Amino acid sequence: MLHSQSHIGIIGSGAMGSGIAQVAATAGHRVSLYDIQTEALKKAEQALAASLNKLKEKQKLSEADCVSIKANTHFVNDIKTLSDCDLVIEAVVENLDIKKSIFKELENYLNPGAILASNTSSLSITSIASACKNSERVLGIHFFNPATLMQLVEIIPGLATAPEHTESAKQILNAWGKTTVVAKDTPGFIVNRVARPFYSEALRIFEEGIADMPTIDATMKENGFKMGPFELMDLIGHDVNYVVTETVWKQFYFDPKFKPALSQKRLLEAGFLGKKSGRGFYDYSENALKPQASTDSGLKKQVFERILAMLINEAADTLYLSVASKEDIDMAMTKGVNYPKGLLKWADEWGVDAVYKTLSNLRDFYEEDRYRVCPLIKTLKNTGASFY
Ligand code: NAD
Repeated sequence: MLHSQSHIGIIGSGAMGSGIAQVAATAGHRVSLYDIQTEALKKAEQALAASLNKLKEKQKLSEADCVSIKANTHFVNDIKTLSDCDLVIEAVVENLDIKKSIFKELENYLNPGAILASNTSSLSITSIASACKNSERVLGIHFFNPATLMQLVEIIPGLATAPEHTESAKQILNAWGKTTVVAKDTPGFIVNRVARPFYSEALRIFEEGIADMPTIDATMKENGFKMGPFELMDLIGHDVNYVVTETVWKQFYFDPKFKPALSQKRLLEAGFLGKKSGRGFYDYSENALKPQASTDSGLKKQVFERILAMLINEAADTLYLSVASKEDIDMAMTKGVNYPKGLLKWADEWGVDAVYKTLSNLRDFYEEDRYRVCPLIKTLKNTGASFY
């Protein structure tokens, strides 16, 4: 079992690995952060110092805390240094072959009781685990970016993972102050799957010319979302957001409900990656005109109900196909992507009948396969029941 004295190893000191190391060191663990690039380790050390300084300035950490967190964190360039770790979290580049070879090599040094985890966003945990002789101790521990600030962590047991390791990972992450949810090893796990319609349905509405981007963005914000879909895609970057959509679609055997949008692909092809490159869906240059949203409340209602219904449909499918519990699905979307409410709770509030009606109208008018209604929604509607 993992405990407060466990030695934690992190592989890959990039954006995610360095954040995860800070979380574990702040929780009092001895942490060894390994990277193949000396430069990446140096950067991580500087990033840790800068982050701790900021927290000290904001009086969230004392000087003594900062000293002990720094002392807890070891930047290492030899993977064998991780041999006495109790938990190793891998956060290297998103490449199955590289991850498999690291896991295979690591197994030669690690003690038999150690747990091996991957922070992968899109690869199959079962597939990574297959590189190990003891795949029972391999699982997914999926943090969100930035790992120090985002509260949610998805725990993903692979097909062979021993239940006690899932439980142990859950307990240690909870002790680090994170909120954990457990997801089946399926594409996108919970958050990156259930959130797809936030982008794809907005893109579809825009491509159909029903509403423009500022109107769709304003509508979602007026209904409690922190950002609109187009602003958010521009912030995440189309190199990341489009690729996640395409990966999820391919991994679900090209299921039409996950199909990416050409309008976003063209941005990627043009190098208009979003805010970071000065242009994405919006123009971020100094003199750019600020686009105005429509004030048509009927249009906004139509846009909002269409996107919300599709989000609820995906959350319902995720529950129906036993990817996670209803509580974990709702928790994941509120803590992982700051949705104003859990989608299944929202469905109950709106009324399952109304959700069904919105979805079936879409299905009758558009492509049946993309807009198919989750069987669970049909059952609830027919029996007059609700999700909770
Ligand atoms: P990154 O590019 O910032 O960092 C990756 C690091 O891995 C680099 O420092 C690189 O030198 C190192 N590396 C590459 N090959 C290595 C090897 N063989 N051994 C040791 N180190 C090696 O990447 P990131 O954004 O931190 O993502 C890391 C993982 O976390 C990926 O699997 C990604 O899918 C996942 N993830 C990323 C985010 C995000 O928003 N960035 C969110 C959740 C999960």
